Amino acid sequence: LLNSTFTKADVYHHEEFEFVVVSYSLFNKTANEIAKVFEEVKEPLIVNDNHIFVKLKAGVFKLEMPLYKNIDFNEAVTKLEIASTKAKTTINKDIIVYDQMVEAAYQTANKMQADIISGIQNNEFQMYYQPQYDVNSEKIVGFEALIRWNNPKYSHISPQVFIEKAEQSGSIIQIGNFVIKEVFKAAKEFEKHGIHLSCNVSPAQIVQAGFTSDLLAEYESNNLKPGSVAIEITETFLMENFTTVIEKLKILKNNGFSIHLDDFGTGYSSMLYLKDLPIDTIKVDKEFIRHVEVDKFSRTIVKKIISLAVELELDIICEGVENMAQSNLVKKMGCDVIQGYLIGKAMPYDDAIKLVLSGPKLGKK
Ligand code: C2E
Ligand code: CA
Ligand code: CA
Repeated sequence: LLNSTFTKADVYHHEEFEFVVVSYSLFNKTANEIAKVFEEVKEPLIVNDNHIFVKLKAGVFKLEMPLYKNIDFNEAVTKLEIASTKAKTTINKDIIVYDQMVEAAYQTANKMQADIISGIQNNEFQMYYQPQYDVNSEKIVGFEALIRWNNPKYSHISPQVFIEKAEQSGSIIQIGNFVIKEVFKAAKEFEKHGIHLSCNVSPAQIVQAGFTSDLLAEYESNNLKPGSVAIEITETFLMENFTTVIEKLKILKNNGFSIHLDDFGTGYSSMLYLKDLPIDTIKVDKEFIRHVEVDKFSRTIVKKIISLAVELELDIICEGVENMAQSNLVKKMGCDVIQGYLIGKAMPYDDAIKLVLSGPKLGKK
């Protein structure tokens, strides 16, 4: 297909599913030829009655630009790779033409990944703890550990952003190790007050060969009691790596860990799998709570999730509870534990301990 579509070009097979086309036509003509290739693969291939869909992505580097008249071979290849990597990781666009903006985005991402590595070495990361409050017993029962980056350049960005970058570059493993060390050590203190800590683990961590043994070793070296630490996993990830992950979670659960299913309701096919999962707790995503008082749809979803959890004998934590109205509503629906700005934002360890000692009560501040 490539050979017959590109009229003046050399076509090379690069890696398993990668081809390089060196076109000697001007870009306008080449662009039409690229479009033609994409058009061709829209139709499924039929092999032994199976319909096979081919997903194509392309990165383009235009040598014809005057700017690149004297560019050397390696530099040109690097720019082509930047464009094709960008194409592979962009969801809503299949063809990425290298330009100044692509270059800038690449440099920023690269810089952040390097800064993450040095940030770990310079102790720039810190764990904050957000309270989880039982509306019936009127006590704090747990905290979720959330990472913060104390670096003036990045302190305003969400952990969601730098965690994603760390996942892409692999440094999530070092960050994950830091999180586990910090949280398990802190858990020993909170344990004295009958309070658990939960920590987020990233998919890239769980699939590592040593994940379970590392966690168990840390758990034992801190001499933790069953129930003192929970790990939070997301539903979407679970569905993609079902069997491997289930095995690991079972081992952890059998050894005293609690498992919380995070962001529940935002993934897919959740209900069917619930009974096979070794989980203790479902966390209702804050997007549903945000509109729970005003929107009938959100209210119905929250109600159904809670009654499902009750039936399956799972605990529930509603996330993102910001006001009394939301708290009262989810309490009436059968949710015991809430987490959100109403009780408190994530805070440093010392403040979290102080909060526990002050024994806060909702509405009686
Ligand atoms: P998440 O696990 O869903 O964490 C809950 C997020 O909701 C936190 O954002 C928290 O600050 C925020 N939140 C809590 N209560 C409220 C509320 O009442 N209203 C609103 N609007 N937001 C509330 P944060 O700390 O920015 O973390 C964002 C995400 O970054 C987390 O989402 C989690 O996916 C990831 N993350 C954070 N720390 C870690 C970590 O140590 N490891 C990993 N792998 N991921 C982490
Ligand atoms: Ca979480
Ligand atoms: Ca969540």
